[in-house]
Amino acid sequence: MEKKELDDELLRQSRALKRRKEQMKKRRQRQNLLKMAGCLAVLALIVGVTSFATSKLGLNGEKPAKKQQTESGSETVRETENKNAKILEEAELLAAGYDYDAAIEKVKSVKGYEQEESLTAAVTKYTTAKASCVAVDVDAVPHIYYHSLMNEPTVALDAAVMGQQEADNMNAWMTTVDEFDKITQAMYDNGYVFVRLRDLVVESKDENGNVIFTRNENLMLPPGKKPVVLSVDDLSYYHSYEKASYPDKLVLDKDGAVKCHYVKKDGTEEVGDFDVVPRLNSFLEEHPDGAYHGARGMIALTGYDGVFGYRTDTAYQTKENLTADQSAWLEAHPDFDWDNEVKEATKIAEAIKKSGWEFANHTWGHLNVSNKTVDELKADNDKWVNTVQNIVGETDTVIFTHGGDIGDWHDYSADNAKFSFYKEAGYNFFCNVDGSVPYWVQIRENYVRQGRINLDGYMLYRASQGQTEVLNDLFDAKQVFNESRPTPVAANGGS
Ligand SMILES: [Zn+2]
Repeated sequence: MEKKELDDELLRQSRALKRRKEQMKKRRQRQNLLKMAGCLAVLALIVGVTSFATSKLGLNGEKPAKKQQTESGSETVRETENKNAKILEEAELLAAGYDYDAAIEKVKSVKGYEQEESLTAAVTKYTTAKASCVAVDVDAVPHIYYHSLMNEPTVALDAAVMGQQEADNMNAWMTTVDEFDKITQAMYDNGYVFVRLRDLVVESKDENGNVIFTRNENLMLPPGKKPVVLSVDDLSYYHSYEKASYPDKLVLDKDGAVKCHYVKKDGTEEVGDFDVVPRLNSFLEEHPDGAYHGARGMIALTGYDGVFGYRTDTAYQTKENLTADQSAWLEAHPDFDWDNEVKEATKIAEAIKKSGWEFANHTWGHLNVSNKTVDELKADNDKWVNTVQNIVGETDTVIFTHGGDIGDWHDYSADNAKFSFYKEAGYNFFCNVDGSVPYWVQIRENYVRQGRINLDGYMLYRASQGQTEVLNDLFDAKQVFNESRPTPVAANGGS
Protein backbone atom coordinates (compact mmCIF):
# COMPACT_ATOMS: atom_id res chain seq x y z
CA MET A 1 0.00 0.00 0.00
CA GLU A 2 1.29 3.47 -0.82
CA LYS A 3 2.18 5.76 2.06
CA LYS A 4 -0.70 8.13 1.26
CA GLU A 5 -3.17 5.24 1.09
CA LEU A 6 -1.75 3.84 4.29
CA ASP A 7 -2.14 7.18 6.07
CA ASP A 8 -5.69 7.52 4.76
CA GLU A 9 -6.46 3.99 5.83
CA LEU A 10 -5.10 4.55 9.35
CA LEU A 11 -7.03 7.79 9.64
CA ARG A 12 -10.19 6.11 8.36
CA GLN A 13 -9.90 3.25 10.83
CA SER A 14 -9.30 5.46 13.82
CA ARG A 15 -12.22 7.69 12.80
CA ALA A 16 -14.47 4.68 12.21
CA LEU A 17 -13.58 3.27 15.61
CA LYS A 18 -14.29 6.62 17.26
CA ARG A 19 -17.59 6.92 15.38
CA ARG A 20 -18.65 3.39 16.33
CA LYS A 21 -17.74 4.02 19.96
CA GLU A 22 -19.72 7.29 19.93
CA GLN A 23 -22.72 5.51 18.38
CA MET A 24 -22.55 2.72 20.95
CA LYS A 25 -22.27 5.26 23.77
CA LYS A 26 -25.26 7.21 22.45
CA ARG A 27 -27.26 4.00 22.04
CA ARG A 28 -26.44 2.99 25.60
CA GLN A 29 -27.39 6.44 26.85
CA ARG A 30 -30.70 6.25 24.94
CA GLN A 31 -31.42 2.78 26.34
CA ASN A 32 -30.61 3.94 29.85
CA LEU A 33 -32.83 6.98 29.42
CA LEU A 34 -35.69 4.81 28.17
CA LYS A 35 -35.23 2.40 31.06
CA MET A 36 -35.09 5.27 33.48
CA ALA A 37 -38.19 6.86 31.96
CA GLY A 38 -40.00 3.52 32.31
CA CYS A 39 -38.96 3.24 35.94
CA LEU A 40 -39.98 6.77 36.70
CA ALA A 41 -43.38 6.16 35.12
CA VAL A 42 -43.91 3.06 37.26
CA LEU A 43 -42.67 4.93 40.28
CA ALA A 44 -44.96 7.86 39.57
CA LEU A 45 -47.88 5.44 39.38
CA ILE A 46 -46.91 3.82 42.68
CA VAL A 47 -46.44 7.18 44.33
CA GLY A 48 -49.76 8.36 42.90
CA VAL A 49 -51.61 5.28 44.13
CA THR A 50 -49.90 5.41 47.52
CA SER A 51 -50.63 9.07 47.98
CA PHE A 52 -54.24 8.50 46.90
CA ALA A 53 -54.52 5.59 49.35
CA THR A 54 -52.84 7.40 52.23
CA SER A 55 -54.98 10.51 51.75
CA LYS A 56 -58.10 8.30 51.62
CA LEU A 57 -57.07 6.65 54.85
CA GLY A 58 -56.39 10.03 56.39
CA LEU A 59 -52.70 9.22 56.86
CA ASN A 60 -51.59 12.16 54.80
CA GLY A 61 -48.34 13.58 56.22
CA GLU A 62 -46.70 16.92 55.56
CA LYS A 63 -46.35 17.58 51.84
CA PRO A 64 -42.66 18.63 51.79
CA ALA A 65 -41.62 15.49 53.70
CA LYS A 66 -43.49 13.28 51.21
CA LYS A 67 -41.86 15.01 48.28
CA GLN A 68 -38.47 14.33 49.78
CA GLN A 69 -39.28 10.66 50.22
CA THR A 70 -40.30 10.37 46.58
CA GLU A 71 -37.07 11.92 45.37
CA SER A 72 -34.84 9.71 47.48
CA GLY A 73 -36.89 6.66 46.42
CA SER A 74 -36.48 7.37 42.70
CA GLU A 75 -32.81 8.04 43.25
CA THR A 76 -32.37 4.54 44.69
CA VAL A 77 -34.22 2.86 41.81
CA ARG A 78 -32.21 4.81 39.28
CA GLU A 79 -28.96 3.91 41.01
CA THR A 80 -29.92 0.22 41.06
CA GLU A 81 -30.87 0.33 37.38
CA ASN A 82 -27.53 1.88 36.46
CA LYS A 83 -25.60 -0.52 38.65
CA ASN A 84 -27.34 -3.53 37.10
CA ALA A 85 -26.76 -2.21 33.59
CA LYS A 86 -23.06 -1.83 34.37
CA ILE A 87 -22.88 -5.35 35.86
CA LEU A 88 -24.59 -6.76 32.77
CA GLU A 89 -22.19 -4.91 30.49
CA GLU A 90 -19.22 -6.38 32.36
CA ALA A 91 -20.79 -9.85 32.35
CA GLU A 92 -21.42 -9.60 28.58
CA LEU A 93 -17.75 -8.84 28.01
CA LEU A 94 -16.68 -11.85 30.12
CA ALA A 95 -19.13 -14.11 28.27
CA ALA A 96 -17.93 -12.79 24.89
CA GLY A 97 -14.46 -14.04 25.91
CA TYR A 98 -15.96 -17.46 26.79
CA ASP A 99 -15.54 -16.96 30.55
CA TYR A 100 -19.12 -17.96 31.26
CA ASP A 101 -18.42 -18.92 34.89
CA ALA A 102 -17.07 -15.46 35.65
CA ALA A 103 -19.99 -13.86 33.78
CA ILE A 104 -22.52 -15.86 35.82
CA GLU A 105 -20.67 -15.08 39.05
CA LYS A 106 -20.69 -11.38 38.15
CA VAL A 107 -24.48 -11.37 37.66
CA LYS A 108 -25.10 -13.42 40.81
CA SER A 109 -23.03 -10.92 42.79
CA VAL A 110 -26.06 -8.61 42.59
CA LYS A 111 -28.03 -8.99 45.80
CA GLY A 112 -31.52 -10.27 44.99
CA TYR A 113 -30.64 -10.88 41.31
CA GLU A 114 -33.30 -13.65 41.30
CA GLN A 115 -35.99 -10.96 41.36
CA GLU A 116 -34.60 -9.06 38.37
CA GLU A 117 -35.65 -10.53 35.05
CA SER A 118 -32.81 -9.07 32.97
CA LEU A 119 -30.31 -10.66 35.36
CA THR A 120 -31.88 -14.12 35.54
CA ALA A 121 -32.22 -14.10 31.73
CA ALA A 122 -28.49 -13.38 31.45
CA VAL A 123 -27.64 -16.29 33.78
CA THR A 124 -29.78 -18.61 31.65
CA LYS A 125 -28.15 -17.33 28.46
CA TYR A 126 -24.59 -17.87 29.77
CA THR A 127 -25.44 -21.31 31.18
CA THR A 128 -26.83 -22.41 27.80
CA ALA A 129 -23.83 -21.01 25.92
CA LYS A 130 -21.42 -22.77 28.27
CA ALA A 131 -23.22 -26.09 27.82
CA SER A 132 -22.88 -25.84 24.03
CA CYS A 133 -19.05 -25.53 24.15
CA VAL A 134 -16.75 -28.36 23.11
CA ALA A 135 -13.27 -29.25 24.41
CA VAL A 136 -10.30 -28.14 22.32
CA ASP A 137 -7.81 -30.78 21.12
CA VAL A 138 -4.78 -29.21 22.83
CA ASP A 139 -2.35 -31.34 20.78
CA ALA A 140 -3.52 -29.70 17.56
CA VAL A 141 -3.24 -25.98 18.33
CA PRO A 142 -1.29 -23.80 15.87
CA HIS A 143 1.07 -21.04 17.04
CA ILE A 144 1.68 -18.03 14.79
CA TYR A 145 4.22 -15.26 15.24
CA TYR A 146 5.21 -11.87 13.91
CA HIS A 147 7.99 -9.36 14.22
CA SER A 148 7.24 -5.63 14.24
CA LEU A 149 5.08 -4.38 11.38
CA MET A 150 6.42 -2.43 8.42
CA ASN A 151 4.44 0.81 8.25
CA GLU A 152 6.04 2.07 5.05
CA PRO A 153 7.24 -1.02 3.12
CA THR A 154 8.42 1.15 0.24
CA VAL A 155 11.05 2.46 2.70
CA ALA A 156 11.82 -0.74 4.62
CA LEU A 157 12.25 -2.81 1.45
CA ASP A 158 14.23 -0.20 -0.50
CA ALA A 159 17.79 -1.42 -0.96
CA ALA A 160 18.88 2.18 -1.64
CA VAL A 161 17.73 3.18 1.87
CA MET A 162 18.48 0.02 3.81
CA GLY A 163 21.28 -1.66 1.89
CA GLN A 164 20.54 -4.83 -0.09
CA GLN A 165 21.14 -7.30 2.75
CA GLU A 166 18.96 -5.46 5.29
CA ALA A 167 16.20 -4.86 2.72
CA ASP A 168 16.21 -8.60 1.93
CA ASN A 169 16.06 -9.41 5.66
CA MET A 170 13.05 -7.12 6.11
CA ASN A 171 11.33 -8.67 3.09
CA ALA A 172 11.88 -12.20 4.45
CA TRP A 173 11.18 -11.70 8.17
CA MET A 174 8.70 -8.87 8.44
CA THR A 175 4.98 -8.37 7.86
CA THR A 176 3.35 -5.18 6.58
CA VAL A 177 0.55 -3.40 8.46
CA ASP A 178 -1.98 -4.22 5.73
CA GLU A 179 -0.94 -7.91 5.68
CA PHE A 180 -1.35 -8.05 9.46
CA ASP A 181 -4.81 -6.45 9.27
CA LYS A 182 -5.97 -8.83 6.55
CA ILE A 183 -4.67 -11.86 8.46
CA THR A 184 -6.26 -10.72 11.72
CA GLN A 185 -9.66 -10.13 10.08
CA ALA A 186 -9.56 -13.35 8.02
CA MET A 187 -8.59 -15.51 10.99
CA TYR A 188 -11.31 -13.91 13.10
CA ASP A 189 -13.85 -14.53 10.30
CA ASN A 190 -12.63 -18.16 10.13
CA GLY A 191 -13.45 -18.62 13.83
CA TYR A 192 -9.94 -18.38 15.30
CA VAL A 193 -9.67 -17.39 18.94
CA PHE A 194 -6.42 -16.45 20.67
CA VAL A 195 -5.57 -18.68 23.65
CA ARG A 196 -2.50 -18.69 25.89
CA LEU A 197 0.09 -21.44 25.51
CA ARG A 198 -0.47 -22.14 29.21
CA ASP A 199 -4.21 -22.60 28.55
CA LEU A 200 -3.35 -25.87 26.76
CA VAL A 201 -2.23 -27.47 30.03
CA VAL A 202 -3.09 -27.81 33.68
CA GLU A 203 -0.12 -26.99 35.90
CA SER A 204 0.24 -28.57 39.31
CA LYS A 205 3.06 -29.56 41.66
CA ASP A 206 4.21 -32.97 42.85
CA GLU A 207 5.11 -33.74 46.48
CA ASN A 208 8.65 -32.38 45.91
CA GLY A 209 7.34 -29.09 44.56
CA ASN A 210 8.23 -29.91 40.93
CA VAL A 211 5.91 -28.50 38.29
CA ILE A 212 3.74 -31.15 36.59
CA PHE A 213 1.78 -30.63 33.38
CA THR A 214 -1.24 -32.51 32.11
CA ARG A 215 -3.39 -31.82 29.04
CA ASN A 216 -6.19 -29.34 29.71
CA GLU A 217 -9.39 -31.30 29.01
CA ASN A 218 -11.47 -28.23 29.88
CA LEU A 219 -10.34 -25.67 27.35
CA MET A 220 -13.83 -25.11 26.00
CA LEU A 221 -14.93 -23.10 22.96
CA PRO A 222 -18.23 -22.90 21.08
CA PRO A 223 -18.54 -25.27 18.11
CA GLY A 224 -16.78 -23.79 15.05
CA LYS A 225 -14.32 -21.74 17.10
CA LYS A 226 -10.65 -22.71 16.76
CA PRO A 227 -7.77 -21.95 19.14
CA VAL A 228 -4.49 -20.31 18.10
CA VAL A 229 -1.46 -19.16 20.12
CA LEU A 230 0.35 -15.95 19.20
CA SER A 231 3.80 -14.52 19.83
CA VAL A 232 5.67 -11.38 18.80
CA ASP A 233 9.46 -11.43 18.59
CA ASP A 234 12.07 -8.77 19.23
CA LEU A 235 9.89 -5.90 20.47
CA SER A 236 12.93 -3.74 21.20
CA TYR A 237 12.94 -1.35 18.23
CA TYR A 238 16.56 -2.22 17.60
CA HIS A 239 18.90 0.46 16.27
CA SER A 240 18.96 -1.60 13.05
CA TYR A 241 15.24 -0.75 12.60
CA GLU A 242 15.80 3.00 12.72
CA LYS A 243 15.61 3.69 8.97
CA ALA A 244 12.96 1.10 8.25
CA SER A 245 9.55 2.65 9.01
CA TYR A 246 9.02 1.15 12.45
CA PRO A 247 7.87 3.10 15.50
CA ASP A 248 10.78 4.19 17.72
CA LYS A 249 9.16 3.23 21.01
CA LEU A 250 6.01 2.23 22.84
CA VAL A 251 4.28 4.91 24.92
CA LEU A 252 1.13 5.20 27.02
CA ASP A 253 -1.74 7.39 25.86
CA LYS A 254 -3.74 9.57 28.25
CA ASP A 255 -5.92 6.57 29.21
CA GLY A 256 -2.85 4.46 30.03
CA ALA A 257 -3.21 2.28 26.90
CA VAL A 258 -0.08 1.04 25.11
CA LYS A 259 0.51 2.85 21.80
CA CYS A 260 3.41 3.38 19.42
CA HIS A 261 5.38 6.58 19.03
CA TYR A 262 6.08 6.82 15.33
CA VAL A 263 7.94 9.41 13.32
CA LYS A 264 6.95 9.11 9.69
CA LYS A 265 9.28 9.47 6.73
CA ASP A 266 8.15 13.10 6.26
CA GLY A 267 8.98 13.89 9.91
CA THR A 268 5.40 13.93 11.21
CA GLU A 269 5.16 12.56 14.73
CA GLU A 270 2.24 10.32 15.64
CA VAL A 271 1.01 8.18 18.52
CA GLY A 272 -1.16 5.24 17.47
CA ASP A 273 -1.57 1.58 16.54
CA PHE A 274 1.57 1.23 14.42
CA ASP A 275 2.58 -2.26 15.63
CA VAL A 276 1.15 -5.62 16.64
CA VAL A 277 0.46 -4.97 20.34
CA PRO A 278 -1.75 -1.85 20.14
CA ARG A 279 -3.20 -2.87 16.77
CA LEU A 280 -4.38 -6.25 18.08
CA ASN A 281 -5.57 -4.71 21.35
CA SER A 282 -7.78 -2.30 19.36
CA PHE A 283 -9.09 -5.13 17.16
CA LEU A 284 -9.92 -7.36 20.12
CA GLU A 285 -11.56 -4.53 22.05
CA GLU A 286 -13.98 -4.35 19.15
CA HIS A 287 -14.10 -8.16 18.76
CA PRO A 288 -13.84 -9.54 22.32
CA ASP A 289 -14.94 -12.99 21.06
CA GLY A 290 -11.58 -13.21 19.26
CA ALA A 291 -9.76 -14.00 22.53
CA TYR A 292 -10.29 -16.67 25.16
CA HIS A 293 -10.47 -15.17 28.69
CA GLY A 294 -8.81 -11.97 27.43
CA ALA A 295 -5.74 -13.78 26.03
CA ARG A 296 -3.35 -11.89 23.76
CA GLY A 297 0.11 -13.27 22.98
CA MET A 298 3.65 -13.68 24.27
CA ILE A 299 6.27 -11.05 23.60
CA ALA A 300 9.76 -12.54 23.14
CA LEU A 301 12.40 -10.09 24.31
CA THR A 302 16.15 -9.79 23.97
CA GLY A 303 18.01 -7.17 26.03
CA TYR A 304 21.08 -5.94 24.15
CA ASP A 305 19.42 -2.82 22.67
CA GLY A 306 16.93 -2.46 25.54
CA VAL A 307 13.18 -3.15 25.34
CA PHE A 308 10.23 -1.38 23.64
CA GLY A 309 12.61 1.28 22.26
CA TYR A 310 13.86 2.19 25.76
CA ARG A 311 17.64 1.92 26.01
CA THR A 312 17.62 -0.03 29.24
CA ASP A 313 20.62 -2.29 28.81
CA THR A 314 23.38 -1.59 31.35
CA ALA A 315 25.81 -0.81 28.51
CA TYR A 316 23.95 2.49 27.96
CA GLN A 317 24.55 3.27 31.64
CA THR A 318 28.18 2.18 32.00
CA LYS A 319 28.98 3.30 28.43
CA GLU A 320 31.24 0.24 28.19
CA ASN A 321 31.27 -2.21 25.27
CA LEU A 322 28.93 -0.02 23.24
CA THR A 323 28.26 -0.88 19.61
CA ALA A 324 28.66 1.86 17.00
CA ASP A 325 24.84 2.17 16.80
CA GLN A 326 24.55 2.53 20.55
CA SER A 327 27.27 5.19 20.75
CA ALA A 328 25.64 7.13 17.93
CA TRP A 329 22.27 6.92 19.67
CA LEU A 330 23.69 8.15 22.98
CA GLU A 331 25.40 11.05 21.19
CA ALA A 332 22.09 11.97 19.56
CA HIS A 333 20.36 11.86 22.99
CA PRO A 334 22.52 13.94 25.36
CA ASP A 335 19.68 14.17 27.93
CA PHE A 336 19.54 10.37 28.24
CA ASP A 337 18.84 9.29 31.83
CA TRP A 338 19.21 5.53 32.30
CA ASP A 339 17.22 5.32 35.56
CA ASN A 340 14.34 7.16 33.98
CA GLU A 341 14.54 4.92 30.91
CA VAL A 342 14.16 1.80 33.09
CA LYS A 343 11.31 3.44 35.00
CA GLU A 344 9.42 4.30 31.80
CA ALA A 345 9.98 0.84 30.27
CA THR A 346 8.66 -0.73 33.48
CA LYS A 347 5.46 1.31 33.19
CA ILE A 348 5.04 0.10 29.59
CA ALA A 349 5.62 -3.53 30.67
CA GLU A 350 2.95 -3.21 33.38
CA ALA A 351 0.42 -1.77 30.91
CA ILE A 352 1.22 -4.49 28.34
CA LYS A 353 0.63 -7.23 30.93
CA LYS A 354 -2.57 -5.55 32.06
CA SER A 355 -3.93 -5.77 28.51
CA GLY A 356 -3.47 -9.58 28.51
CA TRP A 357 0.01 -10.10 27.05
CA GLU A 358 2.82 -12.17 28.58
CA PHE A 359 6.58 -11.96 28.23
CA ALA A 360 9.13 -14.60 27.22
CA ASN A 361 12.91 -14.89 27.21
CA HIS A 362 14.32 -14.62 23.64
CA THR A 363 17.89 -14.72 25.05
CA TRP A 364 19.60 -11.43 25.93
CA GLY A 365 21.92 -11.53 22.93
CA HIS A 366 19.60 -13.11 20.31
CA LEU A 367 21.67 -16.31 20.51
CA ASN A 368 21.05 -19.44 18.53
CA VAL A 369 20.81 -21.90 21.45
CA SER A 370 21.64 -24.78 19.08
CA ASN A 371 25.30 -23.69 18.78
CA LYS A 372 25.90 -22.44 22.32
CA THR A 373 27.35 -24.21 25.33
CA VAL A 374 25.51 -24.49 28.63
CA ASP A 375 27.95 -21.97 30.14
CA GLU A 376 27.20 -19.49 27.37
CA LEU A 377 23.47 -19.96 27.87
CA LYS A 378 23.90 -19.48 31.61
CA ALA A 379 25.86 -16.24 31.16
CA ASP A 380 23.26 -15.01 28.68
CA ASN A 381 20.39 -15.87 31.02
CA ASP A 382 22.06 -13.95 33.87
CA LYS A 383 22.18 -10.90 31.61
CA TRP A 384 18.53 -11.38 30.64
CA VAL A 385 17.50 -11.62 34.29
CA ASN A 386 19.44 -8.46 35.19
CA THR A 387 18.42 -6.28 32.26
CA VAL A 388 15.03 -7.56 31.04
CA GLN A 389 13.40 -9.52 33.86
CA ASN A 390 13.95 -6.55 36.19
CA ILE A 391 11.57 -4.63 33.86
CA VAL A 392 9.03 -7.22 32.66
CA GLY A 393 8.96 -9.61 35.63
CA GLU A 394 9.63 -13.34 35.84
CA THR A 395 8.77 -15.67 32.98
CA ASP A 396 8.73 -19.46 32.59
CA THR A 397 8.93 -19.37 28.79
CA VAL A 398 11.84 -19.38 26.33
CA ILE A 399 11.19 -18.54 22.69
CA PHE A 400 14.24 -19.65 20.73
CA THR A 401 15.82 -17.41 18.06
CA HIS A 402 17.15 -18.24 14.60
CA GLY A 403 14.87 -21.30 14.40
CA GLY A 404 17.13 -23.01 16.99
CA ASP A 405 16.24 -25.43 19.78
CA ILE A 406 17.98 -27.21 22.64
CA GLY A 407 17.13 -30.62 21.16
CA ASP A 408 15.60 -32.24 18.08
CA TRP A 409 11.92 -33.21 17.84
CA HIS A 410 12.35 -36.13 20.26
CA ASP A 411 11.39 -35.50 23.87
CA TYR A 412 13.84 -33.43 25.90
CA SER A 413 15.58 -35.92 28.18
CA ALA A 414 17.14 -35.64 31.61
CA ASP A 415 20.65 -36.06 30.10
CA ASN A 416 20.12 -32.95 27.91
CA ALA A 417 22.34 -30.48 29.80
CA LYS A 418 20.80 -27.38 28.14
CA PHE A 419 17.31 -28.56 29.05
CA SER A 420 18.40 -29.27 32.63
CA PHE A 421 19.93 -25.79 32.86
CA TYR A 422 16.76 -24.06 31.63
CA LYS A 423 14.57 -26.19 33.92
CA GLU A 424 16.71 -25.30 36.93
CA ALA A 425 16.49 -21.64 35.94
CA GLY A 426 12.67 -21.91 36.14
CA TYR A 427 11.67 -22.34 32.48
CA ASN A 428 8.95 -24.86 31.59
CA PHE A 429 7.57 -23.66 28.23
CA PHE A 430 9.72 -23.74 25.08
CA CYS A 431 8.93 -22.55 21.57
CA ASN A 432 10.86 -23.08 18.35
CA VAL A 433 10.03 -22.26 14.73
CA ASP A 434 8.41 -24.90 12.56
CA GLY A 435 6.81 -23.61 9.41
CA SER A 436 6.54 -27.07 7.87
CA VAL A 437 3.38 -28.28 9.64
CA PRO A 438 0.10 -26.56 10.60
CA TYR A 439 0.73 -27.28 14.32
CA TRP A 440 3.24 -29.01 16.55
CA VAL A 441 2.65 -29.45 20.29
CA GLN A 442 4.61 -31.55 22.78
CA ILE A 443 3.00 -31.74 26.21
CA ARG A 444 5.09 -33.72 28.67
CA GLU A 445 4.95 -34.08 32.43
CA ASN A 446 7.90 -31.72 33.00
CA TYR A 447 7.67 -29.29 30.07
CA VAL A 448 5.55 -27.97 27.20
CA ARG A 449 6.96 -27.27 23.73
CA GLN A 450 5.28 -25.78 20.69
CA GLY A 451 6.39 -25.10 17.11
CA ARG A 452 5.63 -21.67 15.67
CA ILE A 453 4.63 -20.65 12.16
CA ASN A 454 6.31 -17.49 10.84
CA LEU A 455 3.70 -15.17 9.30
CA ASP A 456 6.38 -13.19 7.47
CA GLY A 457 7.15 -12.21 3.88
CA TYR A 458 8.92 -15.48 3.15
CA MET A 459 6.03 -17.65 4.35
CA LEU A 460 3.31 -15.43 2.85
CA TYR A 461 5.11 -15.42 -0.51
CA ARG A 462 5.50 -19.20 -0.63
CA ALA A 463 1.92 -19.76 0.51
CA SER A 464 0.58 -17.26 -2.04
CA GLN A 465 2.50 -19.16 -4.75
CA GLY A 466 1.06 -22.51 -3.63
CA GLN A 467 4.50 -23.71 -2.50
CA THR A 468 3.23 -24.62 0.98
CA GLU A 469 -0.18 -25.55 2.39
CA VAL A 470 0.73 -24.79 5.99
CA LEU A 471 -1.41 -21.62 6.13
CA ASN A 472 -4.42 -23.07 4.31
CA ASP A 473 -6.50 -23.58 7.46
CA LEU A 474 -5.70 -20.10 8.77
CA PHE A 475 -6.37 -17.74 5.82
CA ASP A 476 -5.87 -17.35 2.07
CA ALA A 477 -2.32 -16.07 1.62
CA LYS A 478 -3.14 -14.90 -1.94
CA GLN A 479 -5.55 -12.37 -0.44
CA VAL A 480 -2.97 -11.25 2.11
CA PHE A 481 0.44 -11.03 0.37
CA ASN A 482 1.45 -7.40 -0.27
CA GLU A 483 2.10 -7.22 -4.02
CA SER A 484 4.46 -4.26 -3.63
CA ARG A 485 7.10 -6.58 -2.13
CA PRO A 486 10.09 -7.41 -4.34
CA THR A 487 9.68 -11.05 -5.45
CA PRO A 488 10.65 -13.79 -5.17
CA VAL A 489 11.01 -13.40 -1.41
CA ALA A 490 14.02 -15.53 -0.47
CA ALA A 491 14.66 -17.28 2.83
CA ASN A 492 17.13 -15.30 4.88
CA GLY A 493 18.70 -17.20 7.73
CA GLY A 494 16.32 -17.06 10.66
CA SER A 495 15.15 -14.50 13.13
ZN1 LIG B 1 14.23 -12.91 17.15
